[in-house]
This record gives sequence, C-alpha cells and structure tokens, in this order.
Amino acid sequence: MKVENIWNDSEDLKDAVWSWSDRMGVTVREVHLRDMRTKWASISTNGRLTLSTDLLELPEALGEFVIVHELVHLLVPNHGRVFKSFMSAYLPDWEERQHHLQTLLGA
Ligand SMILES: [Zn+2]
Repeated sequence: MKVENIWNDSEDLKDAVWSWSDRMGVTVREVHLRDMRTKWASISTNGRLTLSTDLLELPEALGEFVIVHELVHLLVPNHGRVFKSFMSAYLPDWEERQHHLQTLLGA
C-alpha cells in the first residue's frame, strides 16, 4: 500500500469515484463532499454518495477503500460474507486499509 500519495483536490477524489463505479458497474448519481465528523462516507440506495472532506487529508489508498466500501453497498446492503467477497475481489488488501483507517479514528 502506497501511503505517501495524497489527493490533489476534491476533483481528484471524485474522479476516483467515477472510475470505480465504472469498473464495478454500479450507478453513482451524485457525489458530495462535506464535513461529516463521525464517519467517512455514506451512500443512499439511489446512488447519492457523500464523502467526508477529512478524506482529502488522508492517503489515497484509504479514500479508495472508503469509496469501494460504499459502492459495494450498492450491490450488498450489509457487511456479510457476500460483501466481504466483493471487497476482496476489488481491493485484495482491503482489511489492511480498513485497519489503518480505524487506527486513525482512534488517534
Ligand atoms: Zn458499510
């Protein structure tokens, strides 16, 4: 995992959403960035994705994990076995990235 890469700006982060939605074959209708305080992102079933502006301060690998996690929710609503297999298919090291994010939250 390359931890040194940081997003250039919010457009850079949004571009990652479009390329992942393309790759995963899911429909994202809108992407918003805002100060979320208690979480990194949320997505509605109709494809409205909201990302925390805090992600802009973090390595790309972590934002990418958050994006993929939210987009997999367009395929699977819960965090069960099917969800995890999608995560592994798209980001084989997702657990490492998730762990890294959790350590940041605890900081
Ligand atoms: Zn989730």
